Amino acid sequence: MKFDHILVRYGELTLKTKNRMMFVYALRDRMNQALSNFDVEVRANRDRAYIDINDENPYEIIDKLLNISGILSMSPVVKIAKSDDAMKETVLKFANSIESGHTFKIEVKRADKNYHLDTFGIQQLLGGQVMEHTDHLTVDVKKPDYKIMVEIRPDAIYMYYDSIKGLGGLPLGTGGKALLMLSGGIDSPVAGIDLMKRGVEIEAIHFHSPPYTSPQATEKVKKLVDIMSDRTGFDIKLHIVPFTELQTTIYDKVPDNLSMTSTRRVMLRLSEKLSEKINAEAIVNGENLGQVASQTLTSMYAINEVTNLPVLRPLLTLEKNDIVAMAKRMGTYETSILPFEDCCTIFKPKAPKTKPNLEMVKKFESNVDFEPMIEKALNNIEVYMPSKESEEVDDFSDLL
Ligand code: ATP
Ligand code: MG
Repeated sequence: MKFDHILVRYGELTLKTKNRMMFVYALRDRMNQALSNFDVEVRANRDRAYIDINDENPYEIIDKLLNISGILSMSPVVKIAKSDDAMKETVLKFANSIESGHTFKIEVKRADKNYHLDTFGIQQLLGGQVMEHTDHLTVDVKKPDYKIMVEIRPDAIYMYYDSIKGLGGLPLGTGGKALLMLSGGIDSPVAGIDLMKRGVEIEAIHFHSPPYTSPQATEKVKKLVDIMSDRTGFDIKLHIVPFTELQTTIYDKVPDNLSMTSTRRVMLRLSEKLSEKINAEAIVNGENLGQVASQTLTSMYAINEVTNLPVLRPLLTLEKNDIVAMAKRMGTYETSILPFEDCCTIFKPKAPKTKPNLEMVKKFESNVDFEPMIEKALNNIEVYMPSKESEEVDDFSDLL
């Protein structure tokens, strides 16, 4: 069957009456970006979008759009003129593409109530046409193997077989911006992608402590950002923060069982400062209630105390199994489980407190002036952009 368009149905944005066109345009931009290598034209209307696919393969295009949030479902369609003859001719093409021995049904959606035939009339006309001109199919109105869908719209008639489920959610860019604390573990990449599905753009921050953490650990986080960017069709900017001085100072000045709490507090202070700079309205992390010592409510209370920004935890109540399944689906799992350790693993205390006392933590921290070290770390951030990767490699090879 030769299709000429893809019909894209919107997700929840149908509900957002007031800002609707803002959502539609955001989704259109995302689709254009995801399809930049194809010869297609995206036409996004108030209710749905049509992609003129020229000679491109519709399923390759749909594949590219499966990870774009804001899309409810998609169908490869044939667009035809509003006439009985055009419908009769096209329905035969659909029928002839179905293998022998199957059952079918004609289903009609009549959005244009002025068309001269009603639903029943169209079913009669097209069912009759198939029965008259083919002999390899039978009708089954209850449980057909194939539905031939006919939509009568004001502008044209569209015919298609099936709808392919999209990601749902809201178009990226309609929900503001957040800063993702990205560790290189399994959880934080999943948390980031999950939030993006609700329309929130993200930038990422990663703390590394060379020489205690290896260059491979940092490469791994860059790789995760590449995968996440590819997956969402959005280039995620990564800020790599030198954390060694802060980490070793905490190690020296704060007792072992409270050092994890202090480490997290300092990370959050830095994240807040960077958020202000990049206009992010929230911080996101991969915390999961009860998973480890730093993720009890008492710990979160003690850690969260350093910031007024909302700290979003999309994975808070999920089961680890489910998070792993999400990571596998999103394509980050294989990279996340590579063995290179991040700063938290290396400086991990033997027995971190599950109920750290905030006053005690503050007392130990008051012996240190973290502020200049925080400023210094912020001034020495290395920025990585996924789309720039090949350019950098090229530049580098010139030097060899
Ligand atoms: P993850 O799988 O995301 O590493 P985790 O279960 O290992 O999570 P922790 O190591 O306690 O949990 O980290 C909790 C959260 O703190 C992470 O999900 C991440 O958002 C943030 N975080 C931890 N280490 C770093 C780091 N080196 N750089 C940036 N963020 C970090
Ligand atoms: Mg971790």
